[in-house]
Amino acid sequence: MLRNPQFGGGSQIKSYQSLEERALEIIRDATKRSGGIVQSELWRILDIDSRDGGKLVTRLMRKGLLLREATTHRGRKTYILRYADDSRAPVSVSVSLNPVLEVPCFTCRHIGRCGIGGYYDPTRCPLLTRYLLIMDSRRA
Ligand code: SF4
Repeated sequence: MLRNPQFGGGSQIKSYQSLEERALEIIRDATKRSGGIVQSELWRILDIDSRDGGKLVTRLMRKGLLLREATTHRGRKTYILRYADDSRAPVSVSVSLNPVLEVPCFTCRHIGRCGIGGYYDPTRCPLLTRYLLIMDSRRA
């Protein structure tokens, strides 16, 4: 349960975003200063319970912003949280399907009847042969 009055009322989404931003700020500072922060210490500073703290940590880890490592603190097993540098942040990859769409078979009205040995045969198809020759010339 979110106990911190800063996060009570208003939009729940905004509260979570504010909480994440505050948590990241604390973790980033702690990582610079001492290599990380024990998660219970983070929850104490944020004034949240372990249930919400666990959810918060999971969200930040999924975003690639946080690293969590098992440790022992004051004789108890717990986790230390470290800020993940930018190199560990999620990467956006753009993939173009244009080269695939150039394959004539994708737009061919005979594809349902095309097969080796049939009337429409890919081993004798002029459209496919032309496409393969073009692709081969691009490789050279
Ligand atoms: S091989 Fe030729 S006939 Fe067969 S599906 Fe591809 S383009 Fe159409």
